Amino acid sequence: MSVDFDTIVNLSKKRGFVFQSSEIYGGLRSAYDYGPLGVELLRNVKEQWWHSMVRMREDVVGLDSAVIQSPSVWEASGHLASFTDPLVECTNCNNRFREDKLDKADQCPSCGKTGTFTEAKNFNLMFKTHMGPVESTDNAVYLRPETAQGIFINFENVRRTSRLKLPFGIAQIGKVFRNEITPGQFVFRTREFEQMEMEFFCRPEEADEWFKYWVAERKNWYTDLGMKEDNVRFREHEQDELSHYSAGTFDVDYRFPWGFDELEGIANRTDFDLKAHMERSGKDLTYFDQEAGERFVPYVIEPAAGATRTTFAFLLDAYHEEEVRGDTRTVLRLDKRLAPIKVAVLPLSKKPQLSEVSAKLADDLRPLWPVEHDVTQAIGRRYRRQDEIGTPYCVTVDFDTLDDQAVTVRDRDTMAQDRVSMDQVAGYLRERLG
Ligand code: ATP
Repeated sequence: MSVDFDTIVNLSKKRGFVFQSSEIYGGLRSAYDYGPLGVELLRNVKEQWWHSMVRMREDVVGLDSAVIQSPSVWEASGHLASFTDPLVECTNCNNRFREDKLDKADQCPSCGKTGTFTEAKNFNLMFKTHMGPVESTDNAVYLRPETAQGIFINFENVRRTSRLKLPFGIAQIGKVFRNEITPGQFVFRTREFEQMEMEFFCRPEEADEWFKYWVAERKNWYTDLGMKEDNVRFREHEQDELSHYSAGTFDVDYRFPWGFDELEGIANRTDFDLKAHMERSGKDLTYFDQEAGERFVPYVIEPAAGATRTTFAFLLDAYHEEEVRGDTRTVLRLDKRLAPIKVAVLPLSKKPQLSEVSAKLADDLRPLWPVEHDVTQAIGRRYRRQDEIGTPYCVTVDFDTLDDQAVTVRDRDTMAQDRVSMDQVAGYLRERLG
């Protein structure tokens, strides 16, 4: 089933996944804060990406480069000259829009008038600031609009210190900033967001093969984490859609409530970036293949995903409503690896005989998984809350526990309940949660 946009935005707010930034001051459009559950979910998405792209591979290493880099980086990469979107302004209502994202080329989406747009102007998306106490053109710097360039400028540092041979990749997760003309659709398009990017360096003649390989790998990543195949689409860019640096691009699109839209771009960036940095910096960024006795500039395959946008897609994809005994049950069917809380420990009543036992059990499980110990409200309501935030297992301590030293473990998806001896609970959960 597909969930409507407002339902997921309301759930995010009500349960503490995502809040609008600066809400007490009326909110800052285009930036969001991740609450106690949202931060866990976002971390889990990033962790799963890192696990599959770095930890599980001997040919990829990680990097964490600075947000503020030398302006020469952006001069060389072409961002200063051409990281722009076409901006049009409606002369009737003065609202501004990105021309290439308009539903109707000639009609203002805000006031509905036609023929009121100005000529499109190229608007640079980089945030500019100054380094040091004096504001002058000499010390202008930019917040990075992508993590990729931090990787290219460290190519030689990483190659030399890690002693990796081609093909190899360098991965990075981090905050980036783009002064988007029209942010919106919740965390889909914001001005501050997080990217997960990997640059995979290879021999030029092997680039096509590696491109296909990474398209397949990335597809597996989403579906392995439970994203419904029907909701993910791979779309190859037409020649006239390709960026200036790209010899081929695949978009990974997700079926958002407003239609398919981009989650990730996988591009063959050729040797464009390394060559550009070689030219601008005067440093040698070629690679010497000892076996072949050849020196050349490697090609690069780049899977570039948005962490915050992907987190939103996982939330949408997991949302599920079903009828249970005449009631509607809302459940987030998040993959267990993504669920913010893995185990909820719930005493049947607030009575101290039970809550002391449940508190001790929660403490015992806490080093192993994110655990919530919840003693308030009727047990049915507490189950519903845990279902709504996607907690895979609820462990209930009841009055029988005091006699038989056993608890009831309830499965989020099947709602099946197992009676498990307290000293076996950790093992039982480990089998299921990993
Ligand atoms: P768009 O065409 O939507 O502006 P893009 O093609 O410029 O995006 P890339 O530069 O390829 O995006 O960035 C890689 C990924 O970063 C995107 O696939 C997306 O997941 C994420 N991303 C890009 N812009 C934003 C944004 N403003 N807010 C949130 N995520 C973003």
